Amino acid sequence: MNPSVKLKFAERYGSEPLIIHAPGRINLIGEHTDYNDGFVMPAAIHMGVQFAFAPSQAAETSIYSLKYDEAFRVDLSKPGKVAQPGWANYFLGILHQLNERGLKTGNFNCVFDGDLPTGAGLSSSAAMECGFVFGLNELFKLGLTRLEMIHMAQWAEHHYAGVKCGIMDQFSSMMGKENHAFMLDCRSLEYEYLPLSLGDYTLLLCDTNVKHALSSSEYNTRRNECQQGVAVIAQKYPEVKSLRDLTAAMLPEFKDELPGVIYNRCRFVVEENNRVVEAGKDLKRGDLVAFGKKMFAAHEGLSKLYEVSCEELDFLVELAKESNGILGARMIGGGFGGCTLNLIRGSVVPSLVKSAGLAYYNRFGVEMTHYAVSPGKGTSGVAGYRSNSLNDYIDWVGVKSIYRITMQGRIYTTYIMKKALHLQSFLSGWPDSN
Ligand code: ADP
Ligand code: MG
Repeated sequence: MNPSVKLKFAERYGSEPLIIHAPGRINLIGEHTDYNDGFVMPAAIHMGVQFAFAPSQAAETSIYSLKYDEAFRVDLSKPGKVAQPGWANYFLGILHQLNERGLKTGNFNCVFDGDLPTGAGLSSSAAMECGFVFGLNELFKLGLTRLEMIHMAQWAEHHYAGVKCGIMDQFSSMMGKENHAFMLDCRSLEYEYLPLSLGDYTLLLCDTNVKHALSSSEYNTRRNECQQGVAVIAQKYPEVKSLRDLTAAMLPEFKDELPGVIYNRCRFVVEENNRVVEAGKDLKRGDLVAFGKKMFAAHEGLSKLYEVSCEELDFLVELAKESNGILGARMIGGGFGGCTLNLIRGSVVPSLVKSAGLAYYNRFGVEMTHYAVSPGKGTSGVAGYRSNSLNDYIDWVGVKSIYRITMQGRIYTTYIMKKALHLQSFLSGWPDSN
Protein backbone atom coordinates (compact mmCIF):
# COMPACT_ATOMS: atom_id res chain seq x y z
CA MET A 1 0.00 0.00 0.00
CA ASN A 2 1.18 3.43 -0.94
CA PRO A 3 1.37 5.55 2.25
CA SER A 4 2.19 8.71 0.32
CA VAL A 5 -1.37 9.64 -0.64
CA LYS A 6 -2.34 9.79 3.02
CA LEU A 7 0.72 11.87 3.92
CA LYS A 8 0.24 14.21 0.99
CA PHE A 9 -3.43 14.56 1.83
CA ALA A 10 -2.62 15.53 5.41
CA GLU A 11 -0.01 18.01 4.18
CA ARG A 12 -2.34 19.67 1.62
CA TYR A 13 -5.69 19.54 3.38
CA GLY A 14 -4.99 18.73 7.01
CA SER A 15 -7.84 16.28 7.52
CA GLU A 16 -8.24 12.52 7.92
CA PRO A 17 -9.10 10.98 4.54
CA LEU A 18 -10.89 7.88 3.37
CA ILE A 19 -8.33 5.67 1.57
CA ILE A 20 -9.32 3.59 -1.44
CA HIS A 21 -7.27 1.16 -3.47
CA ALA A 22 -8.31 0.29 -7.03
CA PRO A 23 -6.30 -2.44 -8.75
CA GLY A 24 -5.10 -2.85 -12.30
CA ARG A 25 -5.71 -6.15 -14.02
CA ILE A 26 -4.17 -8.77 -16.19
CA ASN A 27 -6.09 -10.95 -18.57
CA LEU A 28 -4.91 -14.54 -18.46
CA ILE A 29 -6.64 -15.49 -21.68
CA GLY A 30 -9.45 -14.18 -23.88
CA GLU A 31 -8.10 -11.21 -25.81
CA HIS A 32 -10.30 -9.11 -28.13
CA THR A 33 -13.26 -11.28 -27.15
CA ASP A 34 -14.91 -8.80 -24.80
CA TYR A 35 -16.33 -6.49 -27.46
CA ASN A 36 -17.52 -9.61 -29.31
CA ASP A 37 -19.75 -10.48 -26.32
CA GLY A 38 -17.45 -13.43 -25.54
CA PHE A 39 -15.47 -14.80 -22.61
CA VAL A 40 -12.44 -13.39 -20.83
CA MET A 41 -10.40 -14.56 -17.87
CA PRO A 42 -9.01 -11.56 -16.02
CA ALA A 43 -7.61 -11.17 -12.52
CA ALA A 44 -7.15 -7.99 -10.52
CA ILE A 45 -3.51 -7.55 -9.50
CA HIS A 46 -1.83 -6.24 -6.39
CA MET A 47 -0.71 -3.03 -8.12
CA GLY A 48 -3.15 -0.20 -8.61
CA VAL A 49 -4.14 3.40 -7.95
CA GLN A 50 -4.61 4.71 -4.41
CA PHE A 51 -6.88 7.58 -3.46
CA ALA A 52 -7.36 9.73 -0.39
CA PHE A 53 -10.73 11.56 -0.16
CA ALA A 54 -12.45 13.85 2.30
CA PRO A 55 -15.38 16.26 2.02
CA SER A 56 -14.43 19.92 1.72
CA GLN A 57 -16.16 23.15 2.75
CA ALA A 58 -14.38 25.06 -0.05
CA ALA A 59 -16.26 26.48 -3.05
CA GLU A 60 -14.54 24.05 -5.43
CA THR A 61 -13.38 20.46 -5.55
CA SER A 62 -9.63 19.91 -5.69
CA ILE A 63 -7.96 16.79 -7.10
CA TYR A 64 -4.21 16.37 -6.87
CA SER A 65 -2.04 13.91 -8.82
CA LEU A 66 1.06 12.92 -6.88
CA LYS A 67 2.58 11.30 -9.94
CA TYR A 68 2.46 14.52 -11.96
CA ASP A 69 2.60 16.89 -8.96
CA GLU A 70 -0.36 18.67 -10.45
CA ALA A 71 -3.64 19.94 -9.00
CA PHE A 72 -6.94 20.27 -10.82
CA ARG A 73 -9.93 22.24 -9.61
CA VAL A 74 -13.41 21.49 -10.78
CA ASP A 75 -16.83 23.07 -10.47
CA LEU A 76 -18.99 19.99 -9.91
CA SER A 77 -21.91 21.47 -11.83
CA LYS A 78 -19.80 21.69 -15.04
CA PRO A 79 -17.60 18.63 -15.42
CA GLY A 80 -16.85 19.10 -19.13
CA LYS A 81 -13.89 17.44 -20.86
CA VAL A 82 -10.58 19.27 -20.67
CA ALA A 83 -7.51 19.36 -22.93
CA GLN A 84 -5.14 19.28 -19.95
CA PRO A 85 -4.42 17.53 -17.69
CA GLY A 86 -5.35 14.32 -19.52
CA TRP A 87 -5.76 12.37 -16.27
CA ALA A 88 -8.59 14.64 -15.11
CA ASN A 89 -10.89 13.42 -17.87
CA TYR A 90 -11.35 9.99 -16.26
CA PHE A 91 -12.73 11.74 -13.17
CA LEU A 92 -14.73 14.32 -15.08
CA GLY A 93 -16.47 11.50 -16.94
CA ILE A 94 -17.53 10.00 -13.61
CA LEU A 95 -18.70 13.37 -12.28
CA HIS A 96 -20.73 13.90 -15.44
CA GLN A 97 -22.39 10.51 -14.89
CA LEU A 98 -23.26 11.40 -11.30
CA ASN A 99 -24.95 14.60 -12.51
CA GLU A 100 -26.86 12.66 -15.19
CA ARG A 101 -28.17 10.32 -12.50
CA GLY A 102 -29.13 13.23 -10.25
CA LEU A 103 -26.66 12.11 -7.57
CA LYS A 104 -25.35 14.99 -5.52
CA THR A 105 -21.99 15.12 -3.81
CA GLY A 106 -20.64 18.06 -1.86
CA ASN A 107 -17.22 19.43 -2.72
CA PHE A 108 -14.30 17.25 -1.77
CA ASN A 109 -10.54 17.03 -1.81
CA CYS A 110 -8.72 14.11 -3.38
CA VAL A 111 -5.09 13.03 -3.67
CA PHE A 112 -4.17 10.03 -5.77
CA ASP A 113 -1.14 8.08 -6.93
CA GLY A 114 -0.42 4.69 -8.46
CA ASP A 115 2.18 1.96 -8.52
CA LEU A 116 0.87 0.64 -11.84
CA PRO A 117 2.83 1.37 -14.98
CA THR A 118 0.57 3.49 -17.19
CA GLY A 119 -0.16 2.58 -20.78
CA ALA A 120 1.30 -0.92 -20.30
CA GLY A 121 -2.00 -2.74 -20.77
CA LEU A 122 -2.62 -3.19 -17.04
CA SER A 123 -5.59 -0.85 -17.14
CA SER A 124 -4.46 1.97 -14.97
CA SER A 125 -7.25 3.97 -16.60
CA ALA A 126 -9.93 1.56 -15.29
CA ALA A 127 -8.31 1.71 -11.85
CA MET A 128 -8.55 5.52 -11.99
CA GLU A 129 -12.25 5.44 -12.86
CA CYS A 130 -13.20 2.65 -10.48
CA GLY A 131 -11.29 4.00 -7.47
CA PHE A 132 -12.73 7.47 -8.00
CA VAL A 133 -16.39 6.46 -8.31
CA PHE A 134 -16.04 3.95 -5.47
CA GLY A 135 -14.56 6.62 -3.20
CA LEU A 136 -17.33 9.12 -3.94
CA ASN A 137 -19.96 6.43 -3.43
CA GLU A 138 -18.54 5.74 0.01
CA LEU A 139 -17.89 9.33 0.99
CA PHE A 140 -21.34 10.64 0.03
CA LYS A 141 -23.36 7.43 0.57
CA LEU A 142 -24.67 7.49 -2.99
CA GLY A 143 -26.01 3.93 -2.83
CA LEU A 144 -24.50 2.81 -6.14
CA THR A 145 -23.98 -0.91 -6.63
CA ARG A 146 -20.67 -2.22 -7.91
CA LEU A 147 -22.31 -3.06 -11.20
CA GLU A 148 -23.63 0.47 -11.63
CA MET A 149 -20.17 1.83 -10.88
CA ILE A 150 -18.63 -0.53 -13.45
CA HIS A 151 -20.97 0.83 -16.11
CA MET A 152 -20.26 4.43 -15.11
CA ALA A 153 -16.52 3.79 -15.28
CA GLN A 154 -16.83 2.23 -18.72
CA TRP A 155 -18.92 5.19 -19.86
CA ALA A 156 -16.19 7.59 -18.70
CA GLU A 157 -13.60 5.61 -20.66
CA HIS A 158 -15.76 5.68 -23.81
CA HIS A 159 -16.87 9.28 -23.71
CA TYR A 160 -14.18 11.19 -21.83
CA ALA A 161 -11.06 9.17 -22.73
CA GLY A 162 -12.31 8.28 -26.21
CA VAL A 163 -11.48 4.55 -25.82
CA LYS A 164 -14.35 2.27 -26.82
CA CYS A 165 -13.29 -0.52 -24.48
CA GLY A 166 -15.33 -3.57 -23.50
CA ILE A 167 -16.48 -4.09 -19.92
CA MET A 168 -13.61 -6.33 -18.80
CA ASP A 169 -11.21 -3.74 -17.42
CA GLN A 170 -13.67 -1.95 -15.16
CA PHE A 171 -15.29 -5.22 -14.14
CA SER A 172 -11.93 -6.69 -13.12
CA SER A 173 -10.84 -3.67 -11.15
CA MET A 174 -14.14 -3.61 -9.27
CA MET A 175 -14.73 -7.36 -8.76
CA GLY A 176 -11.28 -8.94 -8.36
CA LYS A 177 -10.64 -11.45 -5.58
CA GLU A 178 -7.33 -12.35 -3.93
CA ASN A 179 -5.67 -15.49 -5.38
CA HIS A 180 -8.42 -15.85 -7.95
CA ALA A 181 -9.01 -15.10 -11.58
CA PHE A 182 -12.52 -15.18 -12.92
CA MET A 183 -14.24 -16.18 -16.07
CA LEU A 184 -16.53 -13.43 -17.24
CA ASP A 185 -19.24 -13.76 -19.84
CA CYS A 186 -19.12 -10.31 -21.39
CA ARG A 187 -22.69 -10.61 -22.69
CA SER A 188 -24.58 -11.62 -19.58
CA LEU A 189 -21.92 -10.39 -17.13
CA GLU A 190 -22.22 -13.70 -15.33
CA TYR A 191 -18.92 -14.59 -13.75
CA GLU A 192 -17.26 -17.39 -11.88
CA TYR A 193 -14.23 -17.08 -9.65
CA LEU A 194 -11.48 -19.55 -10.46
CA PRO A 195 -8.72 -20.50 -8.02
CA LEU A 196 -5.27 -19.49 -9.18
CA SER A 197 -3.13 -22.01 -7.36
CA LEU A 198 0.18 -21.39 -9.03
CA GLY A 199 2.42 -23.45 -6.73
CA ASP A 200 6.04 -22.94 -7.87
CA TYR A 201 4.88 -20.82 -10.78
CA THR A 202 4.36 -17.13 -11.00
CA LEU A 203 2.95 -14.57 -13.41
CA LEU A 204 5.59 -12.38 -14.97
CA LEU A 205 4.96 -9.45 -17.27
CA CYS A 206 7.70 -8.52 -19.71
CA ASP A 207 7.19 -5.02 -21.03
CA THR A 208 8.42 -4.33 -24.56
CA ASN A 209 8.34 -0.62 -23.74
CA VAL A 210 7.05 0.07 -27.21
CA LYS A 211 3.63 1.31 -28.21
CA HIS A 212 3.25 1.47 -31.98
CA ALA A 213 1.13 4.32 -33.26
CA LEU A 214 -1.26 1.86 -34.89
CA SER A 215 -2.67 0.66 -31.61
CA SER A 216 -5.83 2.74 -31.23
CA SER A 217 -6.74 2.98 -34.92
CA GLU A 218 -6.25 -0.76 -35.41
CA TYR A 219 -8.33 -1.48 -32.32
CA ASN A 220 -11.27 0.31 -33.89
CA THR A 221 -10.57 -1.38 -37.23
CA ARG A 222 -10.75 -4.82 -35.56
CA ARG A 223 -14.09 -3.95 -34.02
CA ASN A 224 -15.39 -2.96 -37.45
CA GLU A 225 -14.01 -6.09 -39.07
CA CYS A 226 -15.82 -8.24 -36.53
CA GLN A 227 -19.06 -6.39 -37.23
CA GLN A 228 -18.56 -6.91 -40.96
CA GLY A 229 -18.18 -10.62 -40.32
CA VAL A 230 -21.38 -10.69 -38.24
CA ALA A 231 -23.32 -8.80 -40.94
CA VAL A 232 -22.52 -11.49 -43.54
CA ILE A 233 -23.02 -14.46 -41.20
CA ALA A 234 -26.33 -13.10 -39.87
CA GLN A 235 -27.83 -13.23 -43.37
CA LYS A 236 -27.70 -17.00 -43.13
CA TYR A 237 -27.93 -17.33 -39.33
CA PRO A 238 -30.05 -14.44 -37.99
CA GLU A 239 -29.43 -15.69 -34.45
CA VAL A 240 -25.79 -14.61 -34.79
CA LYS A 241 -25.88 -11.18 -33.18
CA SER A 242 -22.16 -11.05 -32.45
CA LEU A 243 -19.17 -13.32 -33.02
CA ARG A 244 -19.93 -14.89 -29.66
CA ASP A 245 -22.80 -16.70 -31.38
CA LEU A 246 -20.67 -18.11 -34.18
CA THR A 247 -19.63 -21.73 -33.61
CA ALA A 248 -16.63 -23.66 -34.87
CA ALA A 249 -19.04 -25.85 -36.82
CA MET A 250 -20.57 -22.92 -38.75
CA LEU A 251 -17.27 -21.27 -39.54
CA PRO A 252 -16.18 -23.33 -42.60
CA GLU A 253 -19.41 -22.40 -44.39
CA PHE A 254 -18.13 -18.85 -44.64
CA LYS A 255 -14.63 -19.61 -45.87
CA ASP A 256 -15.46 -18.48 -49.40
CA GLU A 257 -18.14 -15.95 -48.51
CA LEU A 258 -16.01 -13.75 -46.29
CA PRO A 259 -12.92 -11.83 -47.42
CA GLY A 260 -9.82 -13.71 -46.16
CA VAL A 261 -8.92 -11.10 -43.54
CA ILE A 262 -12.45 -11.00 -42.09
CA TYR A 263 -12.60 -14.79 -42.05
CA ASN A 264 -9.36 -14.91 -40.06
CA ARG A 265 -10.67 -12.38 -37.53
CA CYS A 266 -13.85 -14.44 -37.08
CA ARG A 267 -11.88 -17.66 -36.75
CA PHE A 268 -9.65 -16.18 -34.10
CA VAL A 269 -12.60 -15.01 -31.98
CA VAL A 270 -14.33 -18.40 -32.18
CA GLU A 271 -11.12 -20.22 -31.23
CA GLU A 272 -10.22 -17.78 -28.49
CA ASN A 273 -13.67 -18.05 -26.87
CA ASN A 274 -13.33 -21.84 -26.82
CA ARG A 275 -9.84 -21.54 -25.38
CA VAL A 276 -11.12 -19.45 -22.47
CA VAL A 277 -13.80 -21.99 -21.61
CA GLU A 278 -11.32 -24.87 -21.81
CA ALA A 279 -8.67 -22.93 -19.88
CA GLY A 280 -11.22 -22.46 -17.09
CA LYS A 281 -11.47 -26.25 -16.82
CA ASP A 282 -7.65 -26.45 -16.72
CA LEU A 283 -7.56 -24.09 -13.75
CA LYS A 284 -10.23 -26.02 -11.89
CA ARG A 285 -8.18 -29.20 -12.40
CA GLY A 286 -4.99 -27.34 -11.45
CA ASP A 287 -3.47 -28.31 -14.82
CA LEU A 288 -1.06 -25.44 -15.43
CA VAL A 289 0.71 -27.28 -18.26
CA ALA A 290 -2.48 -27.43 -20.33
CA PHE A 291 -3.24 -23.84 -19.39
CA GLY A 292 0.20 -22.68 -20.57
CA LYS A 293 -0.23 -24.40 -23.95
CA LYS A 294 -3.41 -22.40 -24.47
CA MET A 295 -1.52 -19.19 -23.75
CA PHE A 296 0.96 -19.99 -26.53
CA ALA A 297 -1.90 -20.92 -28.87
CA ALA A 298 -3.69 -17.66 -28.04
CA HIS A 299 -0.57 -15.70 -28.95
CA GLU A 300 -0.27 -17.54 -32.24
CA GLY A 301 -3.85 -16.58 -33.09
CA LEU A 302 -3.40 -12.97 -32.03
CA SER A 303 -0.28 -12.71 -34.15
CA LYS A 304 -1.26 -14.62 -37.29
CA LEU A 305 -5.06 -14.45 -37.52
CA TYR A 306 -6.01 -11.30 -35.65
CA GLU A 307 -2.76 -9.49 -36.53
CA VAL A 308 -2.49 -7.33 -33.43
CA SER A 309 0.98 -8.39 -32.33
CA CYS A 310 4.28 -6.83 -33.38
CA GLU A 311 7.88 -7.94 -33.85
CA GLU A 312 8.83 -7.10 -30.28
CA LEU A 313 5.99 -9.11 -28.71
CA ASP A 314 6.55 -12.06 -31.05
CA PHE A 315 10.25 -12.00 -30.20
CA LEU A 316 9.60 -12.25 -26.45
CA VAL A 317 7.04 -15.03 -26.86
CA GLU A 318 9.44 -17.01 -29.09
CA LEU A 319 12.15 -16.62 -26.44
CA ALA A 320 9.70 -17.88 -23.84
CA LYS A 321 8.93 -20.96 -25.95
CA GLU A 322 12.61 -21.84 -26.01
CA SER A 323 13.17 -21.23 -22.29
CA ASN A 324 13.00 -23.92 -19.66
CA GLY A 325 10.55 -23.29 -16.86
CA ILE A 326 7.97 -21.32 -18.89
CA LEU A 327 4.65 -23.07 -19.37
CA GLY A 328 3.01 -20.39 -21.48
CA ALA A 329 3.36 -16.85 -22.75
CA ARG A 330 1.33 -14.43 -24.81
CA MET A 331 0.87 -10.77 -25.57
CA ILE A 332 -1.77 -9.10 -23.44
CA GLY A 333 -3.95 -6.08 -24.07
CA GLY A 334 -4.90 -4.42 -27.33
CA GLY A 335 -1.56 -5.23 -28.97
CA PHE A 336 1.09 -3.45 -31.07
CA GLY A 337 3.28 -3.19 -27.98
CA GLY A 338 2.85 -3.39 -24.24
CA CYS A 339 3.54 -6.56 -22.29
CA THR A 340 3.76 -10.30 -22.62
CA LEU A 341 2.37 -12.41 -19.79
CA ASN A 342 4.48 -15.44 -18.83
CA LEU A 343 3.51 -18.38 -16.66
CA ILE A 344 6.96 -19.12 -15.32
CA ARG A 345 8.65 -21.13 -12.59
CA GLY A 346 9.57 -18.66 -9.85
CA SER A 347 13.15 -19.95 -9.55
CA VAL A 348 14.00 -19.17 -13.19
CA VAL A 349 12.68 -15.60 -13.19
CA PRO A 350 16.07 -13.93 -12.46
CA SER A 351 17.93 -15.82 -15.19
CA LEU A 352 15.10 -15.40 -17.72
CA VAL A 353 14.82 -11.69 -17.09
CA LYS A 354 18.56 -11.32 -17.57
CA SER A 355 18.88 -13.37 -20.75
CA ALA A 356 15.65 -12.15 -22.36
CA GLY A 357 16.44 -8.55 -21.45
CA LEU A 358 19.85 -8.82 -23.08
CA ALA A 359 18.58 -10.55 -26.22
CA TYR A 360 15.76 -8.01 -26.50
CA TYR A 361 18.11 -5.07 -26.13
CA ASN A 362 20.54 -6.51 -28.70
CA ARG A 363 17.71 -6.97 -31.19
CA PHE A 364 15.71 -3.75 -30.71
CA GLY A 365 17.95 -1.36 -28.77
CA VAL A 366 15.19 -0.94 -26.14
CA GLU A 367 15.21 -1.98 -22.47
CA MET A 368 12.77 -4.71 -21.50
CA THR A 369 11.25 -4.11 -18.07
CA HIS A 370 9.40 -6.71 -16.05
CA TYR A 371 6.91 -7.00 -13.20
CA ALA A 372 5.93 -10.07 -11.23
CA VAL A 373 2.22 -9.78 -10.48
CA SER A 374 0.02 -11.58 -8.03
CA PRO A 375 -3.77 -11.71 -8.15
CA GLY A 376 -5.23 -9.21 -5.71
CA LYS A 377 -8.62 -8.01 -4.52
CA GLY A 378 -10.98 -5.60 -6.23
CA THR A 379 -11.55 -1.91 -5.50
CA SER A 380 -11.95 -1.47 -1.78
CA GLY A 381 -11.32 0.71 1.22
CA VAL A 382 -8.08 0.49 3.12
CA ALA A 383 -7.24 0.58 6.84
CA GLY A 384 -10.03 1.31 9.26
CA TYR A 385 -12.55 1.61 6.46
CA ARG A 386 -16.24 0.78 6.98
CA SER A 387 -18.23 0.26 3.81
CA ASN A 388 -21.46 2.16 3.16
CA SER A 389 -22.35 0.26 0.04
CA LEU A 390 -25.36 -2.01 0.26
CA ASN A 391 -23.59 -4.93 -1.43
CA ASP A 392 -20.66 -4.83 0.93
CA TYR A 393 -23.05 -4.39 3.84
CA ILE A 394 -24.96 -7.51 2.78
CA ASP A 395 -21.64 -9.39 2.59
CA TRP A 396 -20.76 -8.17 6.05
CA VAL A 397 -24.19 -8.96 7.48
CA GLY A 398 -23.97 -12.36 5.77
CA VAL A 399 -20.70 -13.17 7.48
CA LYS A 400 -22.00 -11.88 10.81
CA SER A 401 -25.18 -13.90 10.49
CA ILE A 402 -23.35 -17.11 9.72
CA TYR A 403 -21.15 -16.48 12.74
CA ARG A 404 -24.14 -15.69 14.95
CA ILE A 405 -26.12 -18.72 13.78
CA THR A 406 -23.07 -20.93 14.30
CA MET A 407 -22.47 -19.53 17.77
CA GLN A 408 -26.14 -19.74 18.68
CA GLY A 409 -26.20 -23.23 17.22
CA ARG A 410 -23.35 -24.18 19.50
CA ILE A 411 -25.09 -22.67 22.52
CA TYR A 412 -28.38 -24.39 21.70
CA THR A 413 -26.65 -27.70 21.01
CA THR A 414 -24.92 -27.55 24.38
CA TYR A 415 -28.22 -26.60 26.01
CA ILE A 416 -30.14 -29.45 24.33
CA MET A 417 -27.41 -31.97 25.17
CA LYS A 418 -27.47 -30.86 28.80
CA LYS A 419 -31.26 -31.22 28.86
CA ALA A 420 -31.04 -34.67 27.23
CA LEU A 421 -28.48 -35.82 29.79
CA HIS A 422 -30.65 -34.45 32.54
CA LEU A 423 -33.69 -36.25 31.14
CA GLN A 424 -31.74 -39.45 30.70
CA SER A 425 -30.55 -39.44 34.30
CA PHE A 426 -34.02 -38.46 35.41
CA LEU A 427 -35.58 -41.36 33.45
CA SER A 428 -32.92 -43.84 34.45
CA GLY A 429 -33.38 -42.77 38.05
CA TRP A 430 -37.15 -43.06 37.82
CA PRO A 431 -37.61 -46.68 39.08
CA ASP A 432 -35.21 -46.07 41.99
CA SER A 433 -36.94 -43.01 43.08
CA ASN A 434 -40.15 -44.93 43.22
P1 ADP B 1 -3.59 1.69 -19.37
O1 ADP B 1 -5.01 1.75 -18.96
O2 ADP B 1 -3.26 0.48 -20.17
O3 ADP B 1 -2.63 1.86 -18.24
P2 ADP B 1 -4.32 4.09 -20.73
O4 ADP B 1 -3.68 4.86 -21.81
O5 ADP B 1 -5.71 3.60 -20.96
O6 ADP B 1 -3.33 2.89 -20.35
O7 ADP B 1 -4.37 4.97 -19.40
C1 ADP B 1 -3.21 5.62 -18.96
C2 ADP B 1 -3.57 7.04 -18.52
O8 ADP B 1 -4.24 6.99 -17.25
C3 ADP B 1 -2.35 7.88 -18.28
O9 ADP B 1 -1.93 8.51 -19.46
C4 ADP B 1 -2.88 8.90 -17.27
O10 ADP B 1 -3.62 9.91 -17.90
C5 ADP B 1 -3.85 8.09 -16.46
N1 ADP B 1 -3.21 7.57 -15.22
C6 ADP B 1 -3.08 6.28 -14.87
N2 ADP B 1 -2.47 6.15 -13.66
C7 ADP B 1 -2.24 7.40 -13.25
C8 ADP B 1 -1.64 7.97 -12.08
N3 ADP B 1 -1.15 7.20 -11.10
N4 ADP B 1 -1.57 9.30 -11.99
C9 ADP B 1 -2.06 10.09 -12.95
N5 ADP B 1 -2.62 9.63 -14.08
C10 ADP B 1 -2.72 8.31 -14.23
MG1 MG C 1 -6.64 1.88 -20.31
